[in-house]
Amino acid sequence: MVQGGQETEQDKRLAEDREPETLYGISGSPGIVVGRAVVLRPRSDDLVRYQLKENAIQEEQGRFQRAVDRAEQELQKLRNKFKGDLSDTLTIMDSHIRMLRDPMILKQTSHLIEQKQINAEWALSQALFLVKRKFDHIGDDYIRDRFTDVEYVVKLLLEQLSDHGQQFPTGFAEPVIVVSEDFTPADTVRMQSEKVLGFLTEKGGVTSHTAIVARSLGLAAVVGVENITQLCRTGDTIILDGYDGRVCLAPTMDQQKLYQEYNRQHRAFSDELRWYIHLASETLDGLQVRLSANIEIPDEMEGVIYYGADGIGLFRSEFGYFQQHFLPNEEDLLNIYRDLVIALDPQPVTIRTLDAGGDKLANQLPGNRFKNLHERNPALGLRSIRLSLCEQSLFITQLRALLRASAFGRLRILLPLVSLLSELKQVQEIIGQVMVDLVSEGIPFDPDIEIGIMVEVPSAVTMADVLAAEVDFFSIGTNDLIQYSLAIDRGNEYVAKMYDPLHPAVLRMISRTVEAGHAQGIEVALCGEMAGDVSMAPVLLGLGLDELSMRPSAIPHVKRLLRHSTSRRLNRLAKQALSCKDGQETREFLEKYIADNYGTWRKRL
Ligand code: PEP
Ligand code: MG
Repeated sequence: MVQGGQETEQDKRLAEDREPETLYGISGSPGIVVGRAVVLRPRSDDLVRYQLKENAIQEEQGRFQRAVDRAEQELQKLRNKFKGDLSDTLTIMDSHIRMLRDPMILKQTSHLIEQKQINAEWALSQALFLVKRKFDHIGDDYIRDRFTDVEYVVKLLLEQLSDHGQQFPTGFAEPVIVVSEDFTPADTVRMQSEKVLGFLTEKGGVTSHTAIVARSLGLAAVVGVENITQLCRTGDTIILDGYDGRVCLAPTMDQQKLYQEYNRQHRAFSDELRWYIHLASETLDGLQVRLSANIEIPDEMEGVIYYGADGIGLFRSEFGYFQQHFLPNEEDLLNIYRDLVIALDPQPVTIRTLDAGGDKLANQLPGNRFKNLHERNPALGLRSIRLSLCEQSLFITQLRALLRASAFGRLRILLPLVSLLSELKQVQEIIGQVMVDLVSEGIPFDPDIEIGIMVEVPSAVTMADVLAAEVDFFSIGTNDLIQYSLAIDRGNEYVAKMYDPLHPAVLRMISRTVEAGHAQGIEVALCGEMAGDVSMAPVLLGLGLDELSMRPSAIPHVKRLLRHSTSRRLNRLAKQALSCKDGQETREFLEKYIADNYGTWRKRL
């Protein structure tokens, strides 16, 4: 949660006489942007109680009323976005708007402010307590469950009362660079519709989901910058260099000129890359490798088409669950999946089933079910396929939508974080039952739909030969595979330097998975972030992967490498990488290989 963003008089004075300073973090998302900072400081979730003077009561009631008005405007704005939507979305939003004006909340809070002479936040929480007592006595489960809606409305009001309106502030007057301890992946999605050029965080690593979403949406970002919320002030001018993970606070004229030059070079290189968009993804000797897109939200389809992707290799379906305050139903999901499939037909669209958990905290899923799930170690806990198998009604809703959408084009189902054969068997059984149900309901679907698994834990690599016999394709999720094989938390800035995709252990695991898959005649893709990193992609191409899936804008970069290579040269390179003793050795010869064979668009500082 964040608050602030307002430039204070003190900020203004300090910004005027600050010394230039260069800070380093981790390159979260490429791009160079220059802009003014908006620093969002962490907000305490503790509710404060304070007593009011008698003559302050009316003013406090007015403050509460204004918070109600603002919350209503917010909800109306959101509601307008869903106009014409036939799903439950509108109904739910309307009920939330009505609830805001319900005397249980409105009158009760106002009354408590006056009666007990307490601040609005505390009065509101007391009102909520009284409402909960009433709900607890309701026999009907459905109505009792509506208490979640009351809680949501109260949360919205508390956010309005706390001055910052909502989790991520909106309505910036000029393009800004936002700075915070951390953002949730959902905040990053929200930034897209705001005037946000990029962001800086103290936390996070290159494969934290916040960084992944930033790359997908084209927002420049540097993550893991120590103390940035203390060092930077709202109003500071900043150069954010997302390529090198560098931040210049109050940059000198020389630095500004240098970065203008970088931007010019980058634009020239981007123009050159446009040529590749419509060319085939193949080497000079005709080896074809599918270069497909990773996306999180349907809005990214524009980029998928623009950058000439050979399909969608990974649709992270979980973002559709986190973006709203209620769980999507079968029709909501069907609409999303069908539109994707139709838009790309006949190219494949690979949709991964709900991958909640880990850094995409399961307790932030809408609804009550996982609200109290506080795991000591979420990365090793109830995440991904484990969560779907634990909450089968949620899973079946998604599977029904996926199967129904398969009637409209080539849809592939991808199962996340499979670590045991028994999980796969359970899923197969559930899918079989869903198919039987659809047949009996006369609903069409593709009975030969391809089902694949993410290979992202060492047990899946070791057992890849056994798993390959059960599925239609593999997709290697290196973001997690690196974290689980090297025991490095992918979102932890303290160990980020040890998170090494080029560690020979990782490359050997990829190689082993490719061999196991090919021995069973199935395709092996790789959809981790390293697929779209031009400093690593040549090795992956040499390891024999059939598909690399990456953020759409990286596709022309990787295609350029592919089209300037021969399969023999790539294989030789991969062989050499597999024989390295550590990641540093791999990196050094790879850097040289890339500079010699493909060049680079930017001179180093
Ligand atoms: C991965 O782990 O490599 C992957 C693609 O999945 P995610 O980043 O969503 O965990
Ligand atoms: Mg993963």
